[in-house]
Amino acid sequence: MGCARPIDGKAAAAALRERVAEASREFSRKALRKPGLHVVLVGDDPASAVYVGAKEKALHKAGMEGAVHRLPADTSEADLLGLVGKLNADPAVDGILVQLPLPAHLDEAKVLDTIDPAKDVDGFHVVNAGKLAVGKEALVPCTPAGCIRLLKEERGDLSGLHAVVIGRSNIVGKPMAQLLLAENATVTIAHSRTRNLPEIARTADILVAAVGRPEMVKGDWVKEGATVIDVGINRLPPPEEGAKGKLVGDVAYGEAAEKAAAITPVPGGVGPMTIAMLLANTLTAAHAREGLEPPKL
Ligand code: NDP
Repeated sequence: MGCARPIDGKAAAAALRERVAEASREFSRKALRKPGLHVVLVGDDPASAVYVGAKEKALHKAGMEGAVHRLPADTSEADLLGLVGKLNADPAVDGILVQLPLPAHLDEAKVLDTIDPAKDVDGFHVVNAGKLAVGKEALVPCTPAGCIRLLKEERGDLSGLHAVVIGRSNIVGKPMAQLLLAENATVTIAHSRTRNLPEIARTADILVAAVGRPEMVKGDWVKEGATVIDVGINRLPPPEEGAKGKLVGDVAYGEAAEKAAAITPVPGGVGPMTIAMLLANTLTAAHAREGLEPPKL
């Protein structure tokens, strides 16, 4: 094992959740109601069911109100859009999250763009993506928002640092790049067509991997002293039948830790921050909807 400091996302997330819970109590005193977060789950994808269960537990622990709307896999588009419309119109609902992926017969983009942008706590609506791109206040996707928090806690000012983001999805890579740009980093976005990726990665002061390929980023892709943020969550094939495969990131942790100054482990790095940021976004949305100053979290 190398000498890099592991970045403790679990501890950072627990601290943030504490602050959210306190701010949530303060909101309830002022607004005479709790912040409300509603999650919509269509179908029975086992991973989604686990994520949604964790979100449900977290929202109640944070002193928020809300529910999970569990719909059958064959729910029609009209019924799903109808539910989103109902939640849009409900004044007690501050945040709406439709768990992805949706079953294949449903048009994800259409569903996401039906959510009221003021309640879009996942930050996936084109209005929020556009606001982020032009540097306006926006509800920002939770995973990259969590990464930026970890990075700022680790490095302080990111100004002038070279950040390489591997991955350009709308959920992680692109918003991550926008957030780094907003922090005045010099940003390179890499993807599956990028040439000489290891060479480019080696120039990064901040290396973010959001690819979905187990341990793709090797030790010799990492610059000495870099900060490495591993967003990937990949389950390796089980060593034997009946056993559970190991969870690994997109970075070969042991090798990368030999070179990096700090690195997020998988699990326990970026993952825990995602739900904490979802709660923070819900609180931000609730304050904006009540015309209240958002809390400093
Ligand atoms: P996507 O599959 O949507 O995007 C993956 C990106 O990686 C694409 O831009 C793709 O490029 C790029 N890519 C694929 N192969 C290569 C390659 N060989 N070299 C360079 N780039 C490549 O994934 P997501 O962004 O949704 O998620 C990425 C990872 O993060 C996954 O492991 C996911 O499980 C994890 N994740 C973790 C979360 C957390 O809470 N910690 C939350 C969300 C995701 P191209 O665009 O050219 O196809």
